[in-house]
Amino acid sequence: MLMIRRDLVDAMVGHARRDHPDEACGVVAGPVGSDRPERLIEMANAERSPTFYRFDATEQLRVWRAMDAADEEPAVIYHSHTATEAYPSRTDISYASQPDAHYVLVSTRDPDSHELRSYRIIDGEVTEEPVEVVESYMFSHNGADDVPDAP
Ligand SMILES: [Zn+2]
Repeated sequence: MLMIRRDLVDAMVGHARRDHPDEACGVVAGPVGSDRPERLIEMANAERSPTFYRFDATEQLRVWRAMDAADEEPAVIYHSHTATEAYPSRTDISYASQPDAHYVLVSTRDPDSHELRSYRIIDGEVTEEPVEVVESYMFSHNGADDVPDAP
């Protein structure tokens, strides 16, 4: 399951709308091992295409190095589809190299409502997962009931 803050969802959708009809792409970094997307980084689509996306190699190196330096990892790798549903294409699957990342797709084919879905892509196998949008991670992760009562 992907749990993600609403402001990050809004930022991904906003980026996708802005770049429409070209595909938009980027990552949301989170602390290593936390599975918690926190810092959104919009990236350039080196293809500038309505049907493909590819990170610019130089930018990707820079962004990945900055994450390394901050003890972060790409919790979410997102891109948009502008004329088709939010499902990874064959090219998307072949480029997917991060088994620990949530691959988020946003479709902007409908001007009035967006579609946002999340997948794991491991060894070419695509598994959709539920997305839970939360206002804050503070109370949602373990739930208040998991906090032990004071003695
Ligand atoms: Zn795609």
